[in-house]
Amino acid sequence: MCELEGLDSKQQIGLIIPSIIKGQQEIVVSTHSDYLNTIEEFLQGDKKSKKKIKQRVCHICGNYASDIDTKGYSTKFSGSSISKVFVTTTINYSPLFNKNEYEKNFSICKSCYEKWFSGEKKIMSDNKLTIAGENAVILFEGLFKSIEQSEIEKWITNIDIAFKPIEDKIDYFKEELENQEINDFEFHIIFFKTDGKSCAVKKSIENISIIHFNEIIKIFKEVGQLIRKEHFNLGLIYRMIPVQVNKKKEQLNINRVLDFYSSIIQGTTISVHTVFDYYSEALACSRRKFLAKKADNYYNLYQLGRLVNKETKGFEYFVKEISIFYLGLIKVLTKLEILDKEVLTVEKDISELELNPTIQEKENFLCLNGFSKEAKGLFYLGCMTYQIGRMQEMQNHKNKPILNKISYMGMGTKDILDLYCVLLEKFNQYQSAIRKKAIYLIIDFEKYHHMATKYLGNLPNVLGNEKENLFYLMSGYSSCIYIKKSAEEEDTNDSEQ
Ligand SMILES: [Zn+2]
Repeated sequence: MCELEGLDSKQQIGLIIPSIIKGQQEIVVSTHSDYLNTIEEFLQGDKKSKKKIKQRVCHICGNYASDIDTKGYSTKFSGSSISKVFVTTTINYSPLFNKNEYEKNFSICKSCYEKWFSGEKKIMSDNKLTIAGENAVILFEGLFKSIEQSEIEKWITNIDIAFKPIEDKIDYFKEELENQEINDFEFHIIFFKTDGKSCAVKKSIENISIIHFNEIIKIFKEVGQLIRKEHFNLGLIYRMIPVQVNKKKEQLNINRVLDFYSSIIQGTTISVHTVFDYYSEALACSRRKFLAKKADNYYNLYQLGRLVNKETKGFEYFVKEISIFYLGLIKVLTKLEILDKEVLTVEKDISELELNPTIQEKENFLCLNGFSKEAKGLFYLGCMTYQIGRMQEMQNHKNKPILNKISYMGMGTKDILDLYCVLLEKFNQYQSAIRKKAIYLIIDFEKYHHMATKYLGNLPNVLGNEKENLFYLMSGYSSCIYIKKSAEEEDTNDSEQ
């Protein structure tokens, strides 16, 4: 006990010195280095805390804040979420490549961080979808007012359905989509990949108006009815464009699909050549896999894995479906007015001169879908090819060797002339034997031959892009393939016409 200045003699002060006893050891708190440091920091403020007090503008709320600590906050985000894109230790986004200056480009205040942190978990679980085999999150933004949670949930489902490829058996919204009230909001699709520690954005499609998106879905549906593929949708595009994978099953060139989505959704121009390039590539890739009888790549292609063991029948089924999907895709792109060149323009006057029902049916299809004169010629050449294939099958060449005469990377003028010569040669070769077995094949071949020469006339002058030619040729080929509807799932079959 002692007397202190300023206190009268009756007042006394007791000094208690706390200590912690642990086992045999006694620690006097007031002399412990941690305690002394804390007191010192409190009284003087250390260098670190001085830095934190510096005022900066938060890049999210736009307010001046003294609690900005971008690095400190951002390390707390989940390693597998898109928030991890904002990594302060990367120098790439820092001014003058000085990572310590990162906050000049991007800074977060505490209150924004807290909102972000609590939103992150919800977004990464509720707004996450798989599109084209890639991870994606959908972010919504109300244009004039905030969006109801129920509205968000509904649209997540709708967007998911719009991007689901055909094989994923799901019930499609048919009426609901058209009848539901559409509010003014936009959404963004962020494609990302993560290894659990960090996250990289692969592609983002931003500011998608919900009204425009709904239009696109409607156009797909209309075209789907036209080509008699009810489930024709955005998701199917992923089944049409070949995507290579590496040994880890990572999709190497998936950006070609994502870019295609982006163009359709954002309304940017797509080259007709690109469309036909993908078509011929899909045929060439799948052809190689069918010949090798195994699908060890391009797993995304339409039912390739299921069909690959079915040899020629499988390949024909694949070609038929893919050709009709591409026809549909060209129609969608034409309706959206984003193709750089007009193809398949519908002519109004359909010739009624043909009396033969087989030819009339084909003519109706060609006119309805706007095939040009040359395209029609190639289409019939494809029909002739199919007839020869059937004849070969009857002559015990089950794999239809004529299919090897087609160059799946594109048919130039010379390829077409060569094919034409081989077709006539084979026809002469098989004619007498086939005439006894299946006269209808002979009759049909002659009809198609007549139509092909009618449209092609002077062959070398009229042919354009090699891949486009392939498309018209194979459309004709596949138009002759008939698939039993009930057996579509289990097997593929073609029957007599
Ligand atoms: Zn803020």
